[in-house]
Amino acid sequence: MNFQRRQRLIAGLATDEVDGLVISSETNVGYLTGFSGDSTTLLLTQDRVIVISDGRFSVQLDQECPDLEILIRPIGQPMPVGIGELASSLGLRRLGFESQSTTVDDFHTLAEAALGVELVATKGKVEALRTIKDADEIQTLREAIGMAEAAFLDLRAWLRPGVTEKDAADFLEAALRTHGASGASFPPIVAFGPRAALPHARPTSEGVLGNRDLVLIDWGASGRAYKSDLTRVLVTGKVAPEFESVYLAVAEAQQRAIAAIRPGVMARTIDAEARSVIEEAGFGPFFNHAVGHGIGRDVHEAPVLRSVNDSPLQAGMVLTIEPGIYLPDRGGIRIEDDVLVTDEGCEVLSKLPKSLDTISL
Ligand code: ZN
Ligand code: ZN
Repeated sequence: MNFQRRQRLIAGLATDEVDGLVISSETNVGYLTGFSGDSTTLLLTQDRVIVISDGRFSVQLDQECPDLEILIRPIGQPMPVGIGELASSLGLRRLGFESQSTTVDDFHTLAEAALGVELVATKGKVEALRTIKDADEIQTLREAIGMAEAAFLDLRAWLRPGVTEKDAADFLEAALRTHGASGASFPPIVAFGPRAALPHARPTSEGVLGNRDLVLIDWGASGRAYKSDLTRVLVTGKVAPEFESVYLAVAEAQQRAIAAIRPGVMARTIDAEARSVIEEAGFGPFFNHAVGHGIGRDVHEAPVLRSVNDSPLQAGMVLTIEPGIYLPDRGGIRIEDDVLVTDEGCEVLSKLPKSLDTISL
């Protein structure tokens, strides 16, 4: 699998008129090699695949990447110097590098060390491959979603008036580990009452859950290298009437967006489907972010489902669909599920209840 991924990149070298490509993003190195450590870079040429690392990882690399050529840098040699000297010694003329994961400092050091080699910025090559998940990746995503769902059900059973946002976030993180996750896929968002109007609220110790409060929880699990991302809203007591219509508009927007998902549909169409429902309900200005994004090894991956993205969906993509309405100082509603694009349409991978009659604690 890793082999085919590397071959696809190598096949593209000629198109970019480069004779080598440096992969410096740790996530991309893991995707292309199966290596689970860090501080390690990959150099691909037409006939060589070389992993460049340091002594801390030599045993791990032998175990995880037995089929790859491994170069262990001398102690103290900066990574860009190691790459540059290697590229020079291989006689490369034009070397591609990942502009999004190379700092300006590293670029200058690499340029100095890579004598006689022209550096060529590349962007999004591995990320484009990563948008389409294979069967094993889809299985690991299902597992990460299952862990998140099990942890949420524990939290839901425990949650009661008087606890703070931070208590709830801490409980959720522990529950994710109990259910097999290596941790949360990002620091969970737990927002009570009016703070639910902040799409990326940080849990505080001051926010105490009251008797008739909204609870917005956005969380995910890191499973075997892959991450889930979900949002649910709960309420203590009954939903306030003003938020009933908000909740129903968000739920309908999400349903319409999901119903439109199939291969060939443009990413922006999915955003437009959700947005039109929220606009018709009169809440257009309060839906202030894109409707979703890819998930995988990173919690935010390509494609972004926003109004300017013309690229077509493809079978094998796994996307979040997460419309929201945020009324400043009053509260907010977001519902987020993880959805697999299939040949015929889509499959919603996350299964937690979300109809209005299920959200009261
Ligand atoms: Zn989320
Ligand atoms: Zn998300």
